[in-house]
Amino acid sequence: MDRQQEFVLRTIEERDVRFVRLWFTDVVGSLKSVALAPAEVEGVFNEGLGFDGSSIEGLSRVFESDMLLKPDPSSFQILPWRGEEEPTSRMFCDILTPDQEPAAGDPRNVLRRQLDVAGEMGFTCYTHPEIEFYVLESQEMDQDGSPVPVDRAGYFDHVTGSVSQDFRRHTVNMLEAVGISVEFSHHEAGPGQNEIDLRYADALTTADNIMTFRTVIKEVAIMQGKYASFMPKPFTEHPGSGMHTHFGLFEGDTNAFFAPNTEYNLSTTARQFIAGVLRHAPEFTAITNQFVNSYKRLWGGGEAPSHVSWGHNNRSALVRVPLYKPTKGGSARVEFRGIDSGANPYLGYAAVLGAGLKGIREGYELVDPVGEDVWSLTTAERKALGIKPLPGTLHEALRQMEESELMAEILGEQVFENFLRNKQQEWDEYRVNVSPFETKRYLGLI
Ligand code: GLN
Ligand code: MG
Ligand code: MG
Ligand code: MG
Repeated sequence: MDRQQEFVLRTIEERDVRFVRLWFTDVVGSLKSVALAPAEVEGVFNEGLGFDGSSIEGLSRVFESDMLLKPDPSSFQILPWRGEEEPTSRMFCDILTPDQEPAAGDPRNVLRRQLDVAGEMGFTCYTHPEIEFYVLESQEMDQDGSPVPVDRAGYFDHVTGSVSQDFRRHTVNMLEAVGISVEFSHHEAGPGQNEIDLRYADALTTADNIMTFRTVIKEVAIMQGKYASFMPKPFTEHPGSGMHTHFGLFEGDTNAFFAPNTEYNLSTTARQFIAGVLRHAPEFTAITNQFVNSYKRLWGGGEAPSHVSWGHNNRSALVRVPLYKPTKGGSARVEFRGIDSGANPYLGYAAVLGAGLKGIREGYELVDPVGEDVWSLTTAERKALGIKPLPGTLHEALRQMEESELMAEILGEQVFENFLRNKQQEWDEYRVNVSPFETKRYLGLI
């Protein structure tokens, strides 16, 4: 029993915790949870909790279905939305095979492995996500089949007495209560759309925090009689919900992306990292943008990136290097704008980081930044500048991912194959579905 485990047992006792939930994530990023009685926790720390892994999407095959959950005591938190009486708590878990090896199908393990690769190269990876989502009146649609947002406000609007404002205040308090620090929160451009930015943390903690964040947002919405959705593009005519993430690599306390007196204060390491992300982006788009609907965000405007480019202050770019703030001294970071709010954060971060690390390892050259708005260029102009499109549909993205040795290596054969299989099925269902768009457009016409 280590000190952190002892601390958990003591807290359970002192706070009279009634349930301990064990959390983990399946291959598409759905949160899974099993509740333990407090008396079981010590035994589970020692031996893990057995469960049937073959019932979890993408985790294991039927003939090797026994799996173990191993709680990570450093992630222990009381869940404030369950109330003060008989409090409920949670711990994130690693998934192990019966011989205590990390399970190949565990997304948390996929990210951990990539962080180890970074570690071997001397880097720690920090991330800062900007998470966008819509707050809606309910899960129901109006007569036109559209969701109903809670307000009609826009970017940075301050709406006195508004649902969104109340909502953000509640969520920020709730997040702070589970140890997640919020840096900014504001109304986004779409009606009912909000953004909350979490403080920098190491990438694994950030991914755990995102899973908690989604739960908190949904719980707070329900408490207010509303519904929150992370769907990448719920409205054709309004911007989608991205999960822009700032990446930073550190060598000890030194920011490895920073080099004074260079273009945008970017070190060679940073330039190679960006080059790696850009070159491999089409191969990992299926992971960072995993739903049929994700491609409506990428191609539907609203400041989402549809082409592979980078820039300093260009909001159509896939990778943006934010304005350097001289007051912060020595700071440089790389914002990846492709990933959406529906992504599995463990797999998404592993893919982006793995692509960047490959750029560093192999010394990729970075192309010139693009100053102009990529959307306003003609196809010929884009071609001349070497700006390639991202995949246009989930189908195209899967075809590119399938061919990628790098993605197979980053995800591991098992997650790679399970992910492709799961997503191919989604595409197959989608492509035979006759949508309201089609009946409206063709029925009377033809
Ligand atoms: N909503 C946009 C996206 O989907 C981002 C808008 C912004 O934060 N500038 O990426
Ligand atoms: Mg932002
Ligand atoms: Mg935003
Ligand atoms: Mg941003």
